[in-house]
Amino acid sequence: MKHKYMSEDRQFCLTLDLENDWNFDEPGYDHLVFDYIDEFIELIQSLDVPLSIFVVGKTIEKFPEEIDKLRNQLDCEFHLHSYSHDLSKRYDFRTEVQHGKQAYRSHFGRDPTGYRAPQGNIEAGEFRILEEEGFKFDSSIFPSYRPGVYQNLGMPLEPYIPAESSELIEFPLGVIRGVRIPLSQSYFKLIGTPLEILFDFVPLPDICIYNIHLHDLYETDSHDQLPPIKRAIFKRNMDRSENMLRNNIKSLKSRGYHFTKMSALVTEKLKEYEGKYNI
Ligand SMILES: [Zn+2]
Repeated sequence: MKHKYMSEDRQFCLTLDLENDWNFDEPGYDHLVFDYIDEFIELIQSLDVPLSIFVVGKTIEKFPEEIDKLRNQLDCEFHLHSYSHDLSKRYDFRTEVQHGKQAYRSHFGRDPTGYRAPQGNIEAGEFRILEEEGFKFDSSIFPSYRPGVYQNLGMPLEPYIPAESSELIEFPLGVIRGVRIPLSQSYFKLIGTPLEILFDFVPLPDICIYNIHLHDLYETDSHDQLPPIKRAIFKRNMDRSENMLRNNIKSLKSRGYHFTKMSALVTEKLKEYEGKYNI
């Protein structure tokens, strides 16, 4: 009999949000962290895991060579992470998504199938717009709580079809069950040693989506431009960040997680939902 937790049942997906570090786009600070692309490629190669990249439309337009470097040297795939990464959200959502699709299409020669909203800020009606724009999945929801940013403590931890969409699947970001601490490199850096010690034992969902940014791994002059509290948070444990990621990946491998990409998770879920939801 197949055990519920055989390795193929527990899946892990490493995702990178590829964007300008904190939107400092004045000369000298624009996408500074891209200086570390080669180090990052080496890191991911040494971890030997596939990578799913959510890239900002403007970043594709400004840095096509770096995008191709990642594409050619890593086992990776690309999805969309908005067009402008405008955190104020003073834009029409559909227009923003369409601009993003345009930037994506002119580089990759096809439309994106997956979307991630900046800061997990996606609202109910926007799932329907994504579906109408041809997206198969979204992976924006942190089923957690971040003061002033999101309150999703009641949201599911496993993939689901949001009420207002008919086929589009939401893949929530992974969190530690119970305490709902997101599996984001920024949280591992912030909490540091206690979480590192406990990580082998914390309860996790069967599908774990883990989130990293280049600026969680590499320090640039942009870090010094942040306001003091944010600067302290983002600089914390910076020198140990790569090692924390290595250890977390090792831990998840030893716990039987199968490492995969977002598109494979989507294909699998669609098969599972066929019949069940009549899609
Ligand atoms: Zn982002």
